[in-house]
Amino acid sequence: MKRKLYLLCILSLLCLMAIPASASQKNLSVKNLQKQQILPSKKQKKPEQKTLKTTGKKKVAIDAGHQTRANNGLEPIGPGSKTRKLKVTGGCTGVATGVPEYKFNLRVAKKLKKELISRGYEVYMIRTKNNVNISNKERAEKANKSGSDICIRIHADSNDNRNIKGASGLYPSLQNPFAIRQLSNSCLKLTNKILTAYCKETGIRNRGCVKRDDLTGTNWSKIPVALIECGFMSNPSEDRKLQKKSFQTKMAKGIADGIDAYFEN
Ligand SMILES: [Zn+2]
Repeated sequence: MKRKLYLLCILSLLCLMAIPASASQKNLSVKNLQKQQILPSKKQKKPEQKTLKTTGKKKVAIDAGHQTRANNGLEPIGPGSKTRKLKVTGGCTGVATGVPEYKFNLRVAKKLKKELISRGYEVYMIRTKNNVNISNKERAEKANKSGSDICIRIHADSNDNRNIKGASGLYPSLQNPFAIRQLSNSCLKLTNKILTAYCKETGIRNRGCVKRDDLTGTNWSKIPVALIECGFMSNPSEDRKLQKKSFQTKMAKGIADGIDAYFEN
């Protein structure tokens, strides 16, 4: 009996000693230290992923029109359409400089990307080189999937009459047979803001915004889209102007000013 009592006493003593030990262990556990901000938690160790929601950044998709080789395959001009058009046409060529439109479009697109990034935008480039094979429908789908807020399509114009000069913007009308008509007003606003700012910065004549419902790359879009015809490569003096690097920097600045204006109000 005495021996049992003795053992019980020892056991009780051991228990009493163990309680504060385990309690202090608990307090000093990694989890608690993390809670008290003494140690960085696992979540804090990882740099916060920069997304549109956390940064509030706007994302712009840029489509430099055309590519080295045209693709004469056919594709529907809009979702569910029986009307088909060439996947990618060849584009025009500068009458004075001989520069093909696809090269010009990509040069301007790259300048625009740089300008937009310096202003805090995120940019998605639909193409970054000339030797690609991406149809106009695929370009719109790429922009749709990219999570971009808007899409800017860069092109240059051409006409048999070499005297014609100026820039214009093409947008889908309220009568457009595809879903993009629901964004017609936003498209017009975007196109108009860009064209106005572009012409102000470059001094190129503003030929206005034109409704176009036959553009595959626009009709497949699910985000506000503007196609900018930067000027006429069929006009010798405008062509020479458009190909100057310093002028292309101005063009990019003008387009970016228009994008700023679109998001400002
Ligand atoms: Zn073009």
